Amino acid sequence: MLQKLILLGPPGSGKGTQAKRLAEKFGYLHLSTGDLLREEVKNGTELGAQAKTIMEKGDLVPDDLIVAMIKSRLSATDDGVILDGFPRTVTQAESLDKMLADAGQGIDRALLVDVSDAEVTTRLLGRARIEGRADDTPEVISNRLGVYKQQTEPIVDYYSGKGLLTKVNGEQEIEKVFADLEAIVAG
Ligand code: AMP
Repeated sequence: MLQKLILLGPPGSGKGTQAKRLAEKFGYLHLSTGDLLREEVKNGTELGAQAKTIMEKGDLVPDDLIVAMIKSRLSATDDGVILDGFPRTVTQAESLDKMLADAGQGIDRALLVDVSDAEVTTRLLGRARIEGRADDTPEVISNRLGVYKQQTEPIVDYYSGKGLLTKVNGEQEIEKVFADLEAIVAG
């Protein structure tokens, strides 16, 4: 079984839902930097205060803050981990490699939940109406997709270059996407 996994994909790809389910299925730790940041905002911490307006615009919280936030959680476990929403920049990916290497570990696989631009836009606008998430207005959605393209998509090549990338078709039924991911993690 693969132990250290990254779930990659644009906003609206469903990777958060899939990451949660995979973590449950395999008894792994689910680390979502988006969830951790929302928790910091809710608890009114200093980090939360720094992150709040950035998140509302759909921009990225600075790498050093994210890396510090994830570091303590990662080092607390040797077991299976599913990273969701991290890394989001090549700098974060490099920091992650270093963190894991220092502990004699490494990423086993990066799984890309592949969904077209047109499909994620439709899904996010639909979700905005239903859930009313603060970062789901049309302007913020368009910014988040632009940020993904510019800052996050380069890490697809980063992991592909290391021979660690596997793509899954994210436009299938949710259950089929899960089944594909599950098969890869089970090895
Ligand atoms: P998410 O729930 O993963 O869509 O994340 C919500 C927001 O949190 C993002 O739009 C960013 O503002 C911020 N965020 C989450 N993860 C990261 C990360 N790894 N690096 C920078 N910002 C992040």
